[in-house]
Amino acid sequence: MSDDQASLARSQTYAVHGGEARRKPADAITDPIFCCSSFTFGSTQEVIDFVEERSVREEYARYGNPTERTAEAKLAALEGGEDAVLFASGMAAVTGFLLAKLRAGDEVVLFDECYHHIREFCVTHLERLGIGCRLVRMGDYAALEAALTPRTRLLISETPTNPYLSVLDLERWVALARKHGVETLLDATLATPFNIQPLAWGVDYVMHSATKYLAGHNDLLAGVVIGSRDKLKDVRTFRGVLGAVNSPHNAYLLVRGLKTFPLRMAQHNRNGQAVAEFLAGHPKVARVRYPGLPSDPGYTLAQATLRGGGGVVAVEVKGDWAAAARLVDAVTIPRIGPSLGGAESLIEQPRVLSFWKTPPEKRAALRIPDNMVRLALGIEDSADLIADLAQALERV
Ligand SMILES: *Cc1c(COP(=O)(O)O)cnc(C)c1O
Repeated sequence: MSDDQASLARSQTYAVHGGEARRKPADAITDPIFCCSSFTFGSTQEVIDFVEERSVREEYARYGNPTERTAEAKLAALEGGEDAVLFASGMAAVTGFLLAKLRAGDEVVLFDECYHHIREFCVTHLERLGIGCRLVRMGDYAALEAALTPRTRLLISETPTNPYLSVLDLERWVALARKHGVETLLDATLATPFNIQPLAWGVDYVMHSATKYLAGHNDLLAGVVIGSRDKLKDVRTFRGVLGAVNSPHNAYLLVRGLKTFPLRMAQHNRNGQAVAEFLAGHPKVARVRYPGLPSDPGYTLAQATLRGGGGVVAVEVKGDWAAAARLVDAVTIPRIGPSLGGAESLIEQPRVLSFWKTPPEKRAALRIPDNMVRLALGIEDSADLIADLAQALERV
């Protein structure tokens, strides 16, 4: 996972300039926030030119807004994709995508380690609509192949997974999908386009919760699906029906955040690596999951597919859930809370925050250890984060 300076420079240039017009309204250097629900026409002829697709312009903000288009173009540039469709949140992106693409009788196959609301949407809500969902244990490619049927339309995965940080064998997963003529949707929220370029590996659609590293400041929700223009046409049209669009204010903040995205992501990678190495050597720690650690089961795959391990580290403290809670309560820099990818570090115990009411058998099936703490490192100095964790571990 060496820092590839050439592509770092390239993506930083893309991050600043990508997707933006050189001349903007009023010759402003930034793109304005178009607070606008409706776009007007000068004459009936202009309406006819628009409906006959001779002119490209906006009509109504559920179908598109110039601020949103700038965010979409920038996201597409960073990902190396033709088109990006922006949604109100990551969940709106994935649910909107699935509802646009699937019909009753179809099936999807997803790995069990994934964002819990994506799993819930597939298992509960797609099933309710007559769309089959098969869950396969993360990393079991034989079981994945065995789960495919003539009705399978889509494979869904994450890399690295949240919160376990397991790494997908991207080459194998894409090859399996190709062999069986099904499409692939990769949730690359934790890796981001800085650490992985899934479209170059042959993935059909990349999805991000842009709420996280892409926006990067813990101040908005956004989601995006990126891929070829042709394949995303029905997704864009369906979004106009569904109405799960983002606001021009959020789109502006997202564009602003994206300008520093590669700089921030390099720091998240540095913090993740440094903190994971520190924790792995600590006597009060039972286990650390981080794809950049040579001891991690995902290390070899991470070396092949990821430029960095990202800012999320899963640590299992020696002891029970209360010992892990003592770590959470003793740190002074990370705040206790969900989410990841912002400037500020966050810490949480999945057992408490996401699975407090989940019965023990179900927690065991989901492989959520009681003593696991998830650190979502921000862009503070590594040395400060390590010193803080060191003093907190003394009190575990
Ligand atoms: C947060 C997250 C989502 C959901 O995104 P929202 O913007 O919160 O709706 C999906 N996948 C992963 C991996 C996430 O971390």
